Amino acid sequence: TDFSSLGLSEPLLTAVEEAGYKKPTPVQAKAIPMVLTGRDIMASAQTGTGKTAGFTLPLLHRLSEMRASQDIRALVLVPTRELALQVGESFATYGKHLPLNAVTVFGGVDMAPQIEALEAGADILIATPGRLLDLISKEHVSLGKLRILVLDEADRMLDLGFKDDIDRILQGVPAKRQSLLFSATFSPEIKQLASEFQRHPVKVEV
Ligand code: AMP
Repeated sequence: TDFSSLGLSEPLLTAVEEAGYKKPTPVQAKAIPMVLTGRDIMASAQTGTGKTAGFTLPLLHRLSEMRASQDIRALVLVPTRELALQVGESFATYGKHLPLNAVTVFGGVDMAPQIEALEAGADILIATPGRLLDLISKEHVSLGKLRILVLDEADRMLDLGFKDDIDRILQGVPAKRQSLLFSATFSPEIKQLASEFQRHPVKVEV
């Protein structure tokens, strides 16, 4: 498989080429065309498999085809600040030829610069759950126009005790949306979480 056969637009293929990637990894080859259809997917993928590009590239593609707006249209929930920064960098790398802005927020640091970044406008928000709830309660973030939601490393989120936070966040997002779940394992708890927030997900296993 070639990147050019996956259905991604030219600005994304250029960014992938500039990143030096020759071929999609297995999770990318399976997930990218599936995410582009708009379906919900639950994917089993460890770090290091290229899973981040597996959702970042098709997510950018889908957002770039929607009408521009002032609203957050995609949210990526991650368990840790390191992963938040890493995913934020992926959006910057793959989205560099698209007019989409990604903002990254996480706890343990001053909120003011994050609020400033949000006020400049975010199409995509990458967030850890606790800080996101803080920003929502202070009305710096509104998720009423959300179209795509990603739970990355869902098993780690549950291990770190984020289930209640995730439930609270889900209460405030539109029911009509695309939901993607990535997890290294599919425990009964992960399957339960998936059944709560996804609709007829396609399973992607690598
Ligand atoms: P991830 O599993 O998403 O954390 O990605 C692991 C590493 O693989 C990252 O440093 C990416 O830059 C790199 N990577 C992702 N996709 C590819 C690809 N198709 N070819 C080569 N490297 C890649």
